[in-house]
Amino acid sequence: MPNAIVYAIPAFFVLLLLELLWSFWRRRQTFALSDSLSSISLGLGGQVLNIFAKGLNIGIYLLAYKYLALFELSPSQWWVWAIGLIGYDFCYYWHHRMGHETNLVWASHVVHHSSEEFNYSTAMRQTSTGFFTNWFFYWPLALIGLPPLVFIVSGAVVLGYQFWIHTRHIGSLGWFDYCFASPSNHRVHHGQNDYCVDRNYGGVLMLWDHLFGSFAKERPAQEEPIIYGIHGQLKTFDPIKANLHKYLGLLEDFRLADNWRDRLKLWFAPPGWRPAAAHRLKPHPPHDISAFRIYRPRISNATALYCLLQMALIMPLGMGFIAFAFQLSLPWQLLGALWVLASLWVLGRTLENAPGNGRWQVLWLCSLAIPAAIAHLQWGLPIAWVVTLFSVASLVLLGTLVRSLRRPLPLEV
Ligand SMILES: [Zn+2]
Ligand SMILES: [Zn+2]
Repeated sequence: MPNAIVYAIPAFFVLLLLELLWSFWRRRQTFALSDSLSSISLGLGGQVLNIFAKGLNIGIYLLAYKYLALFELSPSQWWVWAIGLIGYDFCYYWHHRMGHETNLVWASHVVHHSSEEFNYSTAMRQTSTGFFTNWFFYWPLALIGLPPLVFIVSGAVVLGYQFWIHTRHIGSLGWFDYCFASPSNHRVHHGQNDYCVDRNYGGVLMLWDHLFGSFAKERPAQEEPIIYGIHGQLKTFDPIKANLHKYLGLLEDFRLADNWRDRLKLWFAPPGWRPAAAHRLKPHPPHDISAFRIYRPRISNATALYCLLQMALIMPLGMGFIAFAFQLSLPWQLLGALWVLASLWVLGRTLENAPGNGRWQVLWLCSLAIPAAIAHLQWGLPIAWVVTLFSVASLVLLGTLVRSLRRPLPLEV
């Protein structure tokens, strides 16, 4: 069974479409096609990997609950649910805060912040490597004996709530911004301006930010507009690099460090801290927000249409795969996951107009045989249907691809 958030994805897409229509209606566009496709791609890739990793967090919780629980709490009591929601929100605050204030956890959470836009597609942009560290932050709930059902539902509520706050179209909400996570205070959280960094970690309640000194109110846009994104731009739509770039940077600093104290400190130090030897041997340019330019490689209209169609095909196939993966044997699961991830990688390369993306795309069109084979062999869909459906999709995509490759644009960033 996929995690509870997967069931909310159709509702998330409806909200995304409404925000897009509203952007057109108000003539204030907050979406960029390449950025949104990249964010959706990272969300889908994360959920596909979750098929293999989801057991880890729940498994560790179940173990801790079985052997460490101090009290016996029953899910039939309303106050147990209240403790679950507030307790989960509290643990989430510290999880999120450590996600910004320690290198190891930031290396995972950075994916969510690497978009330079802020809209409902940003909410879908999630890390694929959270399973490394997530489990560490919720064991106190198992210790007090919070039943696993209450834990799972509370997690889905706290995470699902945060979707609606990723928008620039809802302004200040007065007292609400002070008490609850809201579009205004979450815009601050996603800013790279000095006053925004390491602020407003709350998932639902802002109480924790007030208590632990991390709350900041949004400044008026005419006074200081928020610039979204991270210090040290990602500058790619490649989902693999987006997930691994900070880990690779940490490994490089680990290699460059000249003593074990620095090599150990590196993983738990705040982002930005580097071993002295790494600074000396490979200095990073200082952060200068005035020099920031949004990463937006030029692609032709035909390429944009191609990428949109490609995502329109990968998305339902990927979601279908997540929903029914439990019926597949491990080799088919691995092949299906590899196909979705490779597809998202090829899409990312095309969005950034990377050299040779035409060749990869032709190869990808041939690879449609893999989901076709899974649909036929595993679920018994009639072969004539499968071949017809995938042939039509391939021909439409091939026609668009040929147009997109006819007039390649210079790579312009
Ligand atoms: Zn964050
Ligand atoms: Zn966010």
